[in-house]
Amino acid sequence: MVRRDGKRICVFSESVPFSMGSDVPARLVYVLDITDRKAAEENMQIASTVYQTSHEAILVTDRENSIIAANPAFSRMSGYGLDEIRGKNPNIFKSDRHDQKFYEDMWRDIADKGIWIGEVWDRRKNGERYLKEMVISVVRDSSGNVFRYVAMFSDITARKKNEELIWRQANFDALTNLPNRNMFHDRLEQSVGNAHREGTKIALMLIDLDRFKEINDSFGHSVGDELLVEVSKRISGSMRDTDTTARLGGDEFVVIIPSLHQVSDVDRIAEKLLQNLLRPFQVQDEAIFVSASIGISVYPDDTECLETLFKYADQAMYVSKGTGRNRFSYYTPALQQASLNRMRLTSELRTALAEGEFEVFYQPIVDLTTGRVAKAEALVRWHHPSRGLIYPGEFIALAEDTGLITPLGDMIARQAVAQVGHWRAKYDSEFQVSINQSPVQIRNRDAGALDWMCDLDNRQVDGPAVIVEITEGLLLNAEPLVNQNLGCFRDVGVQIAIDDFGTGYSSLAYLRKFDIDYLKIDRSFVGDLEGSGLDLCEAIVVMAHRLGLKVVAEGVETTWQREVLQNMGCDFAQGFLFSPGLPVDEFDSQFMSVSAVI
Ligand code: C2E
Ligand code: MG
Ligand code: MG
Repeated sequence: MVRRDGKRICVFSESVPFSMGSDVPARLVYVLDITDRKAAEENMQIASTVYQTSHEAILVTDRENSIIAANPAFSRMSGYGLDEIRGKNPNIFKSDRHDQKFYEDMWRDIADKGIWIGEVWDRRKNGERYLKEMVISVVRDSSGNVFRYVAMFSDITARKKNEELIWRQANFDALTNLPNRNMFHDRLEQSVGNAHREGTKIALMLIDLDRFKEINDSFGHSVGDELLVEVSKRISGSMRDTDTTARLGGDEFVVIIPSLHQVSDVDRIAEKLLQNLLRPFQVQDEAIFVSASIGISVYPDDTECLETLFKYADQAMYVSKGTGRNRFSYYTPALQQASLNRMRLTSELRTALAEGEFEVFYQPIVDLTTGRVAKAEALVRWHHPSRGLIYPGEFIALAEDTGLITPLGDMIARQAVAQVGHWRAKYDSEFQVSINQSPVQIRNRDAGALDWMCDLDNRQVDGPAVIVEITEGLLLNAEPLVNQNLGCFRDVGVQIAIDDFGTGYSSLAYLRKFDIDYLKIDRSFVGDLEGSGLDLCEAIVVMAHRLGLKVVAEGVETTWQREVLQNMGCDFAQGFLFSPGLPVDEFDSQFMSVSAVI
């Protein structure tokens, strides 16, 4: 109806016959304005639709907190129908994820503020835990007493999982599950805060696997990956729970050792770690041997700048690599200088080959039974334009790291082959030259690494004129390619010597397996002949002879050492007692053009 004032109203109207006692028929019409009631009904309708169709679960309890209503979304989420839970207390949904205090705090909030907002782990009917983001509000009656509690919530389990996944991806290494570089920085900063509070120190231990690239190249990436996982377990297993082990990428790991009272504690930890890594790794039926080079810097002793602290650990790690690997070194200020020098040297190394700055020296190897110089070892020297003569200890590792070892090694071997051909033709048809081969050369997949062997043919030099010196490590991780290359030597009659024998993982098994000709006893044992070196040398000689190998003693510096070695039956000796490495002309005039017996 439209009222006189123009407002539209909704009315309920009825007309009934009505008698007033006369003959005149009459009707009574009454009209009721129901506009407000209609509006309220509509609101109820809307509220009910929202309640029924909401994606959010809604649960209503009375003032005793007994359930009186739950919407369909609640049933979908929880698995409970209203009939099963009516009259019950919502604590039947509890999971074991929160303690008593959590619920006490929640109810205190509800009582004090009339509302609680938060995340709760509950259980579905099937027992599964799920995370709710929930609002609980209190509804009061007109006199202010609690009338209802209304809880509304949504299921955020999946969202939470995703957030966690993203967080994990940002902070952890996918392969090893160790913290990554990101997390490492966070933890380091955290440790610094603690160190200040406790007045303690932090050691940063940078760990780089030795020759991992070779293992990766030869066994393939899947073995390499598995190995990294195993290595990461051994590293974290060697540390305390409070230490953080992180993987920075590739084969580089870092450990934060916080709350240190004295730096000397780190020695023990590093020692133990190196020891633990030495045990072979069993990966896909391969027994793989790895070692690591460790660099250590200490906060705040070395520096308080975290970036510099890391750089220092890196420099110390390089010292470990350069001094023979499988060891740890601490940062010292002198390292800073050395690191700069090394960087300079690396770039100079690149041009040195083209500039012809390398020269091959020869050191005599004496037959201990006759005293004749029977062989020579080719030892490379670098004539540095400003620094003068540089020894291989300073640049071979750099050449290996930069890949320069392949062309350098090739050049050395070609020169040596030409030289021995010349000496055999002119003076001694049995003479041999021993050539050091870096493991990088023998493991190299690229063609070219062993091309120098063609020179044997080209120059008509017999294979047996050459001995190649390899290290024990190469045989331990021997893969088909190594076998194949050693087979190439064997095919043309080139002999094989194990250099620095006794310093690596000496194993009898590979001596048999690989058909070796010589063992070169490392000079550290010869230098210690007055101590335990004597027994060791004797044992090596006896064992080698039993297996049909000859023995060369390195680093013989005194006549006494020579005699002791001679008496135990050692076949050959090499050392400053006879001569250091010499330029080819000097070697020629001292040992070849005269028939020298020394
Ligand atoms: P190595 O093969 O074990 O060579 C023996 C090293 O001991 C040589 O050092 C030699 O000069 C030194 N030496 C010889 N007699 C004595 C002695 O009586 N006392 C002492 N204290 N030392 C002695 P050098 O020439 O500095 O070479 C060091 C290492 O560098 C070699 O050890 C070898 O592993 C590597 N190297 C040398 N030349 C080459 C090369 O052409 N290619 C490759 N890949 N490595 C090389
Ligand atoms: Mg050698
Ligand atoms: Mg040696």
